[in-house]
Amino acid sequence: MKKKIVAGNWKSNTGINEAKELAESIAEGLAMRSGYCRVIIAPPTPYIGALKAIANGKLALAAQNSSAYHEGAYTGEVTPTMLAGVGATYVIVGHSERRQLFAETNEVVARKLQHVLEAGLFAILCVGETLEERENGQAKTVVEQQLQSAMLSTVNRDEVGNVIVAYEPVWAIGTGKTATTEQAGEMHTFIRSLLAKTYETAADEVAILYGGSVKPENAPELFACNDVDGALVGGASLNADDFLAIIDANR
Ligand code: PEP
Repeated sequence: MKKKIVAGNWKSNTGINEAKELAESIAEGLAMRSGYCRVIIAPPTPYIGALKAIANGKLALAAQNSSAYHEGAYTGEVTPTMLAGVGATYVIVGHSERRQLFAETNEVVARKLQHVLEAGLFAILCVGETLEERENGQAKTVVEQQLQSAMLSTVNRDEVGNVIVAYEPVWAIGTGKTATTEQAGEMHTFIRSLLAKTYETAADEVAILYGGSVKPENAPELFACNDVDGALVGGASLNADDFLAIIDANR
């Protein structure tokens, strides 16, 4: 049975000491809570190993990216197997910043996701439309294409429980704009229906997170939407109190 999930994407923020303090504050906060929600943090990759002892099973560690290549002569690339070796259990793939700033195509995202699963890790696959695509009425088509190429056509039914989908409308990321509950609910239900067409009942094992300016103030109404199983949080995950308040909203 899938659990509720809140994941924090720290992006390229924090120094090592700040990262340790933030992870400690979150872990302390979780020690006083009853484990109703799976909590994941995605710090900058070089800190994953250093945060393992702090996370200590209460928090799961994610990488924000991993290589589309296997081990070999790929200077600067970090493979999922290396990430697993230092303590990551999840990898975010296809974040819109990677798609937009680093030209990651659906094909590259699909390869990354496959490598993550082959390494025995869980993938958090990000999908979402730009403002222009939404205004042109293409939001669902874009999300379907992203899901189709990275997941539906490559991940089989046995593996599907190891994938989390994060619906992140690009226009809501880091902008302070959030999808309305109607927009979020409609897209999450649509994603669930696409998963069900391919995976039938196994689709129910896939958690679908919402991401895009989630804050303590808007989290309760978003979590109340159909098929919203949790959140992928950027900015607000850098403040332990805010992050814990979002976790509290996901009961
Ligand atoms: C993100 O980067 O995945 C994200 C959702 O960021 P923010 O919460 O800051 O919009």
